[in-house]
Amino acid sequence: MEILHVTAECYPVAKAGGLGDVAGALPKYQNSLGHSAKLVMPMYSTKFLYTNQFEVVHKGGFGMGPYWFNYTIIKETTDKLGFGLYLVDINGLLDRENIYGYSDDAERFVAFQIAVVDWLSKWSIKPDVVHVHDYHAGLIPFMMQHCYAYQYLADIPTVLTIHNAQYQGWMNWDKASYLPAWNNWEWGKLDWQDRINPLASAVKCATRVTTVSFSYLNEMRSSANGLENLFEYERGKCTGILNGIDDVVWNPATDTYIDDKYNTKTAAAGKLANKKFLCSEFNLAIEKPLFVFIGRLVYEKAADLLPQAIYDAIYNMEGKMNFLILGSGDAHVEWELANMNLPLAGYYNSKIGYNEKLSHQMYAGADFLLMPSRVEPCGLNQLYAMRYGTIPVVRNTGGLRDTVKDIGEEGGYGILFNDAKVWDITYSIHRALQLYEAPKQMKSIRNKIMGIDNSWENSARQYINLYSSLK
Ligand code: ADP
Repeated sequence: MEILHVTAECYPVAKAGGLGDVAGALPKYQNSLGHSAKLVMPMYSTKFLYTNQFEVVHKGGFGMGPYWFNYTIIKETTDKLGFGLYLVDINGLLDRENIYGYSDDAERFVAFQIAVVDWLSKWSIKPDVVHVHDYHAGLIPFMMQHCYAYQYLADIPTVLTIHNAQYQGWMNWDKASYLPAWNNWEWGKLDWQDRINPLASAVKCATRVTTVSFSYLNEMRSSANGLENLFEYERGKCTGILNGIDDVVWNPATDTYIDDKYNTKTAAAGKLANKKFLCSEFNLAIEKPLFVFIGRLVYEKAADLLPQAIYDAIYNMEGKMNFLILGSGDAHVEWELANMNLPLAGYYNSKIGYNEKLSHQMYAGADFLLMPSRVEPCGLNQLYAMRYGTIPVVRNTGGLRDTVKDIGEEGGYGILFNDAKVWDITYSIHRALQLYEAPKQMKSIRNKIMGIDNSWENSARQYINLYSSLK
């Protein structure tokens, strides 16, 4: 089966979060199942671009409102990622250092999508399915069906995967002229609450819609940043397929980012060596349980609750634990977390920014991973943590609910709490402390979580079955 993924992120080319991890793994696993999966994404100015070889495979141009853009499609020559990687170069628009965060992001991603569809309409390969990820590729199903120039693509089935419904790519209707000439009778397929909403458009136009966990799909019918009614109405075409993890990249026995590698048998010594490194690097105490948080410092992740929860835990539980935070996002939360380094020195430390290597070192060296998320479509951090023998302490929501079982239940291996509230987080930290004081139980849980199979194989197969059902 010929599959084309369209995405804004893909590890190791450019990654801001879980979308990048999924896009970097899913096509590879689909290829290993005997299919031909390829991926197209914007060409940003990242290290990957400058350290790999590319060839030009197509050049074209298109009008977007009052502007004209030339674009070039380049392909990585060796397929070293395990799939064909195509990048869309639009000079001055996409070739920037960061993936997101520019005032013209709306224009950037619309232009990216037009270039993809334009190239697709001229490509010698006609995919059996076009799989679009999140709002950055959300206008593609509409364009394939309702833009006059691309009618040739109208019969190709499309699948939308929602990794995060909080971001929808809203644009005012004055930007409608950005889209290549389209059938105006179909305006309702772009519209949601009087604006152009690329994510809503994809939910309406894609042949099938998937979310990255079952619980998230259910939750979206009551909480989806304004799209609740749409998910209720379109529920017949929606299904949940849980993310997997790339067990080549995320494997403590081979991970090139960590100095002391380990497997289930050597986990006690291996994790201790990694913890030692973290403790000496961040002035923490090796004998105390180490809680880490890794992630975007945004409302969805409940990062705003961390400062108070950490203060309360340290003061109310006599400083019996240490915390280490890695993240970037909301400026005020960044500021609060960074300002705690000095007063809480010896108990707490934080590193503000994005650091792939340090994240691996933290999964390896920590005892517990904290994830108080308000919204969690799937969550990969808890899956990585478990693979590295780090016990997840997570809120009972979305993908966290689907992948973590509380130690209070038969066969449980994590700590779940219900409320995104400071007191519930600190209570869970208290439960984790009690667990830490029972080394035998800690050890058996560690062995268990390292052995859980969360690899992509199963999920990659579910996507293939879904595509096959669309023929
Ligand atoms: P989301 O996609 O909502 O950010 P996920 O849990 O699905 O959350 O995926 C997060 C991914 O991003 C993980 O691979 C995590 O390790 C990584 N990550 C998040 N923030 C950072 C950071 N500051 N430094 C390094 N890696 C990070």
